[in-house]
Amino acid sequence: MKYYSTNRQSPEVSLREAVMRGLAPDGGLYMPGELPSIPKAFFNNISSMSLSDIAFIVADRMLGSDINSSVLRRIVAETFSFDIPLVQIDDNVYSLELFHGPTGAFKDIGARFLARVISHYSGQAPGQKVKVLVATSGDSGAAVAAGFHGVPGIETYILYPSGGLSRAQISALSLPGRSVTPIEVLGTFDDCQRLVKQAFIDSSLRREVAITSANSINIARLLPQMCYFFHGYASLLAHGERQDASPSGSPVVFSIPSGNLGNLTAGLMSMQMGLPVSRFIVANNVNNVTVDYLHEGVLKPRRAIPTVAKAMDVGNPSNITRILDLFAGSHAAITRVVDGYTVSDRDIKGTISLSHLSSGYLLDPHSAAALCALRSRLSPGEKGIFLATAHPAKSARVVAEATGEKVPPVFEPTSRRHNAPPHARISGSYDALRRLIVN
Ligand SMILES: *Cc1c(COP(=O)(O)O)cnc(C)c1O
Repeated sequence: MKYYSTNRQSPEVSLREAVMRGLAPDGGLYMPGELPSIPKAFFNNISSMSLSDIAFIVADRMLGSDINSSVLRRIVAETFSFDIPLVQIDDNVYSLELFHGPTGAFKDIGARFLARVISHYSGQAPGQKVKVLVATSGDSGAAVAAGFHGVPGIETYILYPSGGLSRAQISALSLPGRSVTPIEVLGTFDDCQRLVKQAFIDSSLRREVAITSANSINIARLLPQMCYFFHGYASLLAHGERQDASPSGSPVVFSIPSGNLGNLTAGLMSMQMGLPVSRFIVANNVNNVTVDYLHEGVLKPRRAIPTVAKAMDVGNPSNITRILDLFAGSHAAITRVVDGYTVSDRDIKGTISLSHLSSGYLLDPHSAAALCALRSRLSPGEKGIFLATAHPAKSARVVAEATGEKVPPVFEPTSRRHNAPPHARISGSYDALRRLIVN
């Protein structure tokens, strides 16, 4: 399959090139040239299928012409090596727990898949390691470090700002061996991003080593996220819910705690491939650029402000261009299937507290935002699934304040981190980074 840029000012490319480039040369995001439909028959026995079987079938429809089936089956199995349970919260509401991966957030899934796809392509040019560069201001670094650690054919360099990460976030980057090199940059996150950009435009460096990025806009991070929408639907049927229970067809509504809109994009692509979904709800925190767009029809990016759902503190959602592209730019077409709701920090803490009191179910702030939006928007007869995107232990302080309950630390430093090499440390100068990469 060919991949095109949403800006349509650069040539269509193969999957390999779209993955290795990350961003298209014209600054657009890559999209698959078509969304192959999934045969109706698939949905008749989907409820008895395993996560990895469903994920393989979806991935094979998308990528089967680019990656050999047996390789793809292995990549999918290694990516989805943990459970994604659907937990019933009440009669009509379910939690899709995407946080059982190594770093406790759904970003593990995209990172694990991307690492293995890059490794697959690097194996086609034996003897040469691909160097992956990524700048992080927090959690995405942990998912990338864990997802790329020990994957053959790849060396990963993670740049983070000195003083910008919590102790747990820094320790999550410390892994044994040499395949992941954390680099503390004496500067800001912007300096880290500038250094990475400089490496990509350094043509003499690119002649010496193969470099690529694990940036969140990479199409190979998005594709595996489609799989869990199909899996969530299958699990709902397995819970005994009927797919024809509503006159409009499917009663299924997904509520998505949103920042850069990767999950919403994956959900909408799944729907266009034939997943029986009735609609989506976007939950924003007070950085509600997307919700404002849905209500007003105008996109007004602005500076983000901090909230308790940090990973959703986004003022200019990158994947909105992909969503506009999916609907040919039509606001009316988008709002037919996407509804939006804004959740304040108070709503988030109230939802965590109420859920704990009424059922003992612990929510992290991002998942709580999605549940809060779902409760306020779900109509009678609908069945709602909200994406639980992070483990409550990752926001232990907020959860403890809202519930009075201490959440045991699941992702704290472990003993295996003791034999991790110390982090490299560089000033904001590009030469120092270049030397690290070349050696
Ligand atoms: C990144 C993140 C989000 C936002 O997801 P998008 O796909 O960028 O909209 C929500 N919750 C958590 C825990 C995250 O890490």
